[in-house]
This record gives sequence, C-alpha cells and structure tokens, in this order.
Amino acid sequence: MENPFRWSISRHDSFVTCQRRYYYSYYAASFDSEVRRLKRLSALPLWAGSVVHETIEAFLRERRLPPTVTEQEAVIRSAVHEKMAAEWRESEGGSLRFRLFEHEYEVPVEAEDKKIAVGIVIRSLRQFFRAETLAEALAAGHARWRSLEDLVSFQVGDVGVLMRMDLAYGTSDGRVVIVDWKTGRSEGRNNAIQVAAYALYAFEKGWVRDVSQLRTRLEYLALARTIERELDQPALDRARDFIAKSAADMRALLADPAANRARIEDFSRIDRPQVCRRCNYRRLCFPRHEIETAPLPF
Ligand code: SF4
Repeated sequence: MENPFRWSISRHDSFVTCQRRYYYSYYAASFDSEVRRLKRLSALPLWAGSVVHETIEAFLRERRLPPTVTEQEAVIRSAVHEKMAAEWRESEGGSLRFRLFEHEYEVPVEAEDKKIAVGIVIRSLRQFFRAETLAEALAAGHARWRSLEDLVSFQVGDVGVLMRMDLAYGTSDGRVVIVDWKTGRSEGRNNAIQVAAYALYAFEKGWVRDVSQLRTRLEYLALARTIERELDQPALDRARDFIAKSAADMRALLADPAANRARIEDFSRIDRPQVCRRCNYRRLCFPRHEIETAPLPF
C-alpha cells in the first residue's frame, strides 16, 4: 500500500513521545489491519473531543441562521443521549468502527469518568453556541467559508504537511479568521506551530497577502476561553524551520527515505510506564504471555 511521507503536528507528537508508537501509527498501520484497528481506538477525553467536533461540523453544514435556545438544547441532547449513548454501546459490543481504549483493555470506567466526558461535551457545545465565532461565521455566510473540518496540505521545502482546519472564513473587511476548537484543559505544546502552519497554508492558497489580514483563534470550549495569536514573519519562519527539522529527524530513522520505508527494529520503545499504560499499542509491546511470565513494567 502506498504510504507517502506527510508531516503533521500529531505525527511530530507521536515521534517525540515514543518512536515505536510512531512506527506503529505511520508505518505498520498501513499494512497491518490489527495495528490499524488499535490506532483507531479512542479514549474518554479524546472521544468527548470527537463528539464535539462532529456535532459542530454537522450543525454548521446545515445552518444558515443562529439557532434558538431550544434548538441549541436539542443539538446538545442529541449529542449526549443519541450519539454518545449509541457509540458507548457500539464500543462495549466490540465494534470495529468505534472502540474505546477503556473497553479494549478492560480498564474499569467509574460513573464519575463518564460524567466528566459528558460534562466536557455539554460545556463545550454550550460555549460554541455562545461564542462570537458562530455569530460571525453565520453572518459572513457560507459563500465566504474557506474550510470546514477539511484535511488540507501544503509544502515546506520538499516536505508535504497535513493539517485539519476546523473552520476558516472571510470577513467583510477583507480579513480571514481561522478557528481551532479545543476541548482539552491546557494549551497544547505545539500551538504556536499549529497557528503558524495555518498561516502558511493561507498564504499558499492566496487567502491573504499580509499576515495582518489573518486572525487565528484557538477556542478552548470547555474552559470558555479564546486565545487569538498574533503572527509575524519571524513566527512563520520559525514554523518552517521547526517542520523541516522535525521531518529530517523522522526521515533519519528510515531504512529507505526515498521510498519512505521503515523497519520496526530502528524505532525504539520507551521506558515510561505512565505513557505505556495509556498507549493503544501496549498489547503489541507487552503481549499477554509476557505479562503472565514477567513482572509488568507498570
Ligand atoms: S506501549 Fe510504550 S513502548 Fe510500546 S508503543 Fe506504546 S508508548 Fe511505545
């Protein structure tokens, strides 16, 4: 199966966390169906984030006008009582389409854990309906939207870069707003790179001619907090350098960089029980027979 090299922020995160995990996600998953299945496992907080993103996307694809409070509550109820309830049952039943890490690895889920995930979804969607972005995007009109959950790509030198863009739209005064919805509690360590990468894409597409025409907005929905980051040319140059260096580090481990071919033995495992305990691939690194005959590393 063809597997071209494409840099992304999640690929970088995976690489710096554990090289073996990176190998499974970006190489073994392309030819091994069991690795592919494990790669797709979700987990409670991640799941809450996916439900929020999918609900917002479905809502925005249909709507032209701001929703009433009754309509907002109906969307939230449906996300929790229909979507989440159905996916939970699917995961418990061992579905190949949707499976939670907690079910796959028989991690006990307390009622409180479920309440937290549901709480993230409810708070995030309420904030989405309240925030300025929704009113502004609807006022701009769908004709001015540039992206809605699109997987976009651009080049940094010879490196193809992949990104998901939650929402981008033009405003009547000639600016472009790029929005990223987040459901976590803390700022991601690579947010500055992510924002600059959005800008690089916007320039490549000709959306703006000057960085001052661009606004990048990180919406922390569960915290009801919005961060708008200032961008300048040095920030864009730093992002390009970061991506080029990260891609070079990844390619340095390949058996055949031109063919993007990797060997498992070149990608070492880590010795960090806290990370392995929550890793989708822990069964591959610590098979059951090893677990039964040797002390677990966690
Ligand atoms: S279980 Fe640990 S060593 Fe194995 S891939 Fe996951 S993080 Fe890496």
